[in-house]
Amino acid sequence: MDHDHGLPPHYEPEDLVPLSAHGIPVLNGEQFLRREAADRLAELLADAAAAGEELVVASGYRSFGEQQRTHARWTALYGEGAGGMSAVPGHSEHQLGTAVDFTNAAAGYELWWPFGDTTASAWLEENAHRYGFILSYPRGREEETGYNWEPWHYRYIGVENARELRESGLSLQAFLQQNGVIPHC
Ligand SMILES: [Zn+2]
Repeated sequence: MDHDHGLPPHYEPEDLVPLSAHGIPVLNGEQFLRREAADRLAELLADAAAAGEELVVASGYRSFGEQQRTHARWTALYGEGAGGMSAVPGHSEHQLGTAVDFTNAAAGYELWWPFGDTTASAWLEENAHRYGFILSYPRGREEETGYNWEPWHYRYIGVENARELRESGLSLQAFLQQNGVIPHC
């Protein structure tokens, strides 16, 4: 998912499951992900907790309408620069039902850059790929991804893909193109 590949407005995954039923701590009411992503996320969070790291899910699946409202909010706060901070409607990985935003007490339960300085963020960068999750918009790759660094935003692409991506050193966007994966299918 990037600026050039949009989703149809009414796209909605069919196997969304509520995260609290998976024992996953969430903020802002209930959050949803596709079933496989939720299963792997539950394992990730259990292992992170065992390692002493607190992680809660601030956002999972977002519909096109919700994404429009989020984008309007960011634009109101940050003006035209919001394109690099919050995906324009229809270009959000959250509409796929496989993207998740993390936060924790150390980051004040906010989605912002200080999360990147937490030990939980370091744990994610080291371990998330083992559960099929990867950082979509890494630091230092803004030119490639078209987005600012978002240390809180991870996307599930499957354990095998995540391992291959990590070994390739490519950005997610380049990896998906190279492997012929159409992001929204
Ligand atoms: Zn996100």
